[in-house]
Amino acid sequence: MTSPIWHPFTQHGLEEAIPTVVKGDGALIHTADGREVIDGISSWWVTTHGHNHPPIIEAIREQALKLDQVIFAGWTHEPAEDVARGLRDLMPDALTRVFFSDSGSTCVEVALKMALGYWQAQGERREGIVVMEHSYHGDTIGAMSVGERGVFNQAYEPLLFDVANVPFPGKGAEQACYDALESACAAGAAAFIVEPLVLGAGGMLMYGPDVLAEMRAICAKHGTLFIADEVMTGWGRTGTLLACEQAGVVPDILCLSKGLTGGAMPLAVTMASEPIWDAHYSTDRAKLFFHSSSYTANPIACAAAAANIAIWRDGTVRDQVATLVERQAAHLAALSAEHAIENVRQCGTIAAFDVPADVSGAQGYLADVQPRLLKFFRENDLLLRPLGNTVYVMPPYCISEAQLTRVYEVIAASLRSLREPPQG
Ligand SMILES: *Cc1c(COP(=O)(O)O)cnc(C)c1O
Repeated sequence: MTSPIWHPFTQHGLEEAIPTVVKGDGALIHTADGREVIDGISSWWVTTHGHNHPPIIEAIREQALKLDQVIFAGWTHEPAEDVARGLRDLMPDALTRVFFSDSGSTCVEVALKMALGYWQAQGERREGIVVMEHSYHGDTIGAMSVGERGVFNQAYEPLLFDVANVPFPGKGAEQACYDALESACAAGAAAFIVEPLVLGAGGMLMYGPDVLAEMRAICAKHGTLFIADEVMTGWGRTGTLLACEQAGVVPDILCLSKGLTGGAMPLAVTMASEPIWDAHYSTDRAKLFFHSSSYTANPIACAAAAANIAIWRDGTVRDQVATLVERQAAHLAALSAEHAIENVRQCGTIAAFDVPADVSGAQGYLADVQPRLLKFFRENDLLLRPLGNTVYVMPPYCISEAQLTRVYEVIAASLRSLREPPQG
């Protein structure tokens, strides 16, 4: 019997094989048919320290023996308190409050609701949200609304709310981005939501810290709330704990998930500054923050997050990140010296390039190059998932030099294979 499972972002009609994973260990995942696969994308950007990282697994084990789950409205527990205190110490001082949820999409929804709640409490009519072209903030209705429109969400368009768009600030387009942001903010936008330094799902598009700082300054000038979606960029991905750090930017609202638990458990937080908390603080029940989900601050997930925070506070993870940043730069340079690849770029531990149009044929997400590469990587026991003709490497920080070398050998071989006619 075929499996009843409906997989995410999967076209089952293509009947591609879906391997069964039985074990994870550092940068490797092991399949039921005995293959060892290098996880070159940290299992969709979540696994920061590696699979089954011992201190995180131990924290989960210990917590599971004490308390699995408890209602979080009107009750609290030690793992959540640990995480909240740890985040206050680790994150910028102005972000004083921690609201828990369970996914990147949800913490974005929470951020948007907090922003509108803030303006309602000010008695000021501000509703509009400003977003950046090519952004991705998740797949729930609100998160899709503030993300790039395209084939991904075309069918749901009637449910999506209108937003103001600013162009992506690529080389030469910075001023156009600033001008659009300035006019949207001046028109009374409630908030601007942005992925700092790297637009992940939009194709690993990168812009500099100076641009981030300028955008933050424009929002501040007009009182537009600045929401940093660091769901992907947070926890060392861009070389620093937060991408915002590189620009000296402190957002009004910060979204964190993915690496929050080291990728071991689903958990997210939305951190807010004191004015946003104050706007909801009252003796009037009608002014409370109307958001909850059943598993808010699940104790086992919180225990994993507390262990991750301890790693960032006490561990040598920053050295590990710095080493990976250097190794990625060296491999990327060697690859681009040997192969005709375009828009070679790196931000911290993330390396990316585009396969040129003459090789890849049609550009864009559905281009033929993507399935060909995907198949090649899979046959060579490498987990990479190109975004259209963009190939990127975003491994767990523990990846060894030998494993990373193998990743780039397979990529080089895949580029050679693209020159041959497709089979089948
Ligand atoms: C992945 C991602 C999200 C959504 O997170 P989920 O946990 O998949 O819901 C939101 N924002 C950014 C920037 C992301 O990369």
